[in-house]
Amino acid sequence: MSEKYEKLPLEPFFKTIDELQPKFIERLQKAIAIPSVSSDESLRPKVVEMAHFLVGELESLGFTDIQLKDLGTQPPPVQDANLQLPPIVLGRYGQDPKKKTVLVYGHYDVQPALKDDGWSTEPFDMHYDKANGILYGRGSTDDKGPVMGWLNVIEAHRKLGWELPVNLVVCFEGMEESGSLGLDELVAKEAKQYFKNVDQVTISDNYWLGTTKPVLTYGLRGCNYYQIIVKGPGADLHSGIFGGIIAEPMTDLVKIMSTLVDGKGKIQIPGVYDMVAPLTEKEDKLYDNIDFSVDELNAAAGSDTALHQNKRDILKHRWRYPSLSLHGIEGAFSGAGAKTVIPSKVVGKFSIRTVPNIDLAKLDQLVFKHINEEFAKLNSPNEFKVELIHDGNYWVSDPFNESFQAAAKATEDVWNIVPDFTREGGSIPITLTFEKELGVDVLLLPMGRGDDGAHSINEKLDVSNYINGCKTLGGFLHYYGKS
Ligand SMILES: [Zn+2]
Repeated sequence: MSEKYEKLPLEPFFKTIDELQPKFIERLQKAIAIPSVSSDESLRPKVVEMAHFLVGELESLGFTDIQLKDLGTQPPPVQDANLQLPPIVLGRYGQDPKKKTVLVYGHYDVQPALKDDGWSTEPFDMHYDKANGILYGRGSTDDKGPVMGWLNVIEAHRKLGWELPVNLVVCFEGMEESGSLGLDELVAKEAKQYFKNVDQVTISDNYWLGTTKPVLTYGLRGCNYYQIIVKGPGADLHSGIFGGIIAEPMTDLVKIMSTLVDGKGKIQIPGVYDMVAPLTEKEDKLYDNIDFSVDELNAAAGSDTALHQNKRDILKHRWRYPSLSLHGIEGAFSGAGAKTVIPSKVVGKFSIRTVPNIDLAKLDQLVFKHINEEFAKLNSPNEFKVELIHDGNYWVSDPFNESFQAAAKATEDVWNIVPDFTREGGSIPITLTFEKELGVDVLLLPMGRGDDGAHSINEKLDVSNYINGCKTLGGFLHYYGKS
């Protein structure tokens, strides 16, 4: 894949990273010790403390133009109407007009974590399992490990007396786990200012597909989320009195929802698949070597219920084909037991994961048309409405572009293996924001493994992933700087 680049003499850099390992582990430990949980209002001062911790690190590493961008107060719903959003941390390393400029994004907030949730050790007191080479702690892999990784790259260059091959701009946010409030506006605002001259954006905030083979991620699915509202009687009724003599909203809703997708996962809304990009031979080939199996899917799902029985079909249906999931019914009786209620108003929720080249507005039209037609067929006297709750576009890049090829070469140097080129079934909205606002290529270069438990208990980062991840991030800057 990466014959485009001559192998660079990066051994001294890799060796320096190895020598600095104890210091890098200590840096991560300090970061994990600050419980920067963005969803917990009472911990907001800790999120801000984490921003200041980063500023201190950037200052000591010689970054310039360090700024804390104030995003104002957090919009409702909030307990404290004056709750300030944590700042975005910006900084630069180098401003040589002859060099390319790479913007790296990461987030310094984390998911909530309590020992009582089932953690084996204190989530904010990093546990170094030396026997197995694993670092446990909230944020270890998501996303403090990768954020520290970029700082470690700079430290290793300084120790070596090497110049950085590119100008680096860092953008670290503190609300990623809580909807990235304020980030889109900031990126748009700074596109022609702080982020002027940025040639490329690298995000290290996702994971390998599995546990043994490094990956580079070139695509994400989007998500359009809808609700169907059916309203009948003025209040919930008793089925002994009203059953059989009024039109029940739940009956209408269930009928409509049953027309959206079949048991094999095939979307039944006409026209959706017509918008899906055809599979090219080049793309198809990328699936050949990917390290994945049906067993891994069944293990992750905790059941033996896969709809496809081979790796290629599973991955294609997760990454490059749309899917429709029924999520729930608001207003319906959902408790245990046998309540004889006729719900007066029910709201069915479903979403469609979108892929190239689905046009979001066109998709909405197809969804509305189909559901309106299905409701008309019911001849129901109930009130009915279908609407979009939110949408988000898919993202796909070119795995053969300079960014991906440079990252592939760096990965090969470090891991002695060509990485898998993967996509993800979910979304990372910031990817699209950077691509759209800055008009440059975005690379997703993950550090951690698929089993790191990013939002779960016992979140971890393997020492080998942390250290080799630092080498890969740095190596990427060298190959990209030469491209
Ligand atoms: Zn993350």
